Amino acid sequence: VTLARAKDLVSAAVARGTAVPAFNVITLEHAEAIVSGAESAGVGVLLQISENAIRYHGRFAPLLAACRELASSGSVSVGIHLDHIEASGLARDLIDRAETFGAGSIMVDASTLDYVANVAETSRLAADAHARGLWVEAELGAIGGKDGAKAPSAHAPGARTDPSEAIAFVAATGVDALAVAVGSSHAMTEKSASLDLALLESLAAEVPVPLVLHGSSGISDALLAQAIAAGVRKVNVGTALNVAWTAAVRAYLATETGGVDPRRYLTAARTEAAAVVAHLCDVIAGR
Ligand SMILES: [Zn+2]
Repeated sequence: VTLARAKDLVSAAVARGTAVPAFNVITLEHAEAIVSGAESAGVGVLLQISENAIRYHGRFAPLLAACRELASSGSVSVGIHLDHIEASGLARDLIDRAETFGAGSIMVDASTLDYVANVAETSRLAADAHARGLWVEAELGAIGGKDGAKAPSAHAPGARTDPSEAIAFVAATGVDALAVAVGSSHAMTEKSASLDLALLESLAAEVPVPLVLHGSSGISDALLAQAIAAGVRKVNVGTALNVAWTAAVRAYLATETGGVDPRRYLTAARTEAAAVVAHLCDVIAGR
């Protein structure tokens, strides 16, 4: 299957009333697990590479090139999305080179800025990205917990996106999709978050672009299905894969105390992560 793009995957989800699963890639094995899980479920997905993952590798080209190869050789539609790109220098480099790496979309994240500065920064980058044919997601109402190891910021999961501000933000910036703060928080290792479904419904009714749910690892399957019924059209998942991943590595190393071959425990991790991907594809794509 040829490389998919977020624009087409999300349009199809809008038409079906479902959502596109978007999974975060940290290592090559994450990308392999995601494509393999999506193939077992028979669901199109996005491989998303965040600024944090790029900073971990120290550069973006090797990982993006690997994702492009995997995405274009899968038996289901797989697209490449650039996630939480904050620094404008990196954002510009990625926008300039997105086509080379088959990335069809970018999330511009200026959500930590105040409203006026968020609008200014997002508009500028969205215009550049649109000039290159990219689909643009942005965030309004900072969704907490993004720093992973650091403590979640004080306003999360209490942050909420205001519907009238969201309408104005989309009109002012011209973005194609909006990540909203409705109760979820990044980096949750337990599925204990609650969502403001009534707010989600009003946002979906009033905001003229598809809504994106971040921090979905903290949300139960049943609640995820309700969020999609309320209007979420792209669901971002990162931590849930890493919970399964790390549990598999820990279990292997606890048993095989003399083992030194990374292929042994990474095979276990990749298999477990692929199973999580396949399951979430079923939940998110509404099958
Ligand atoms: Zn996110």
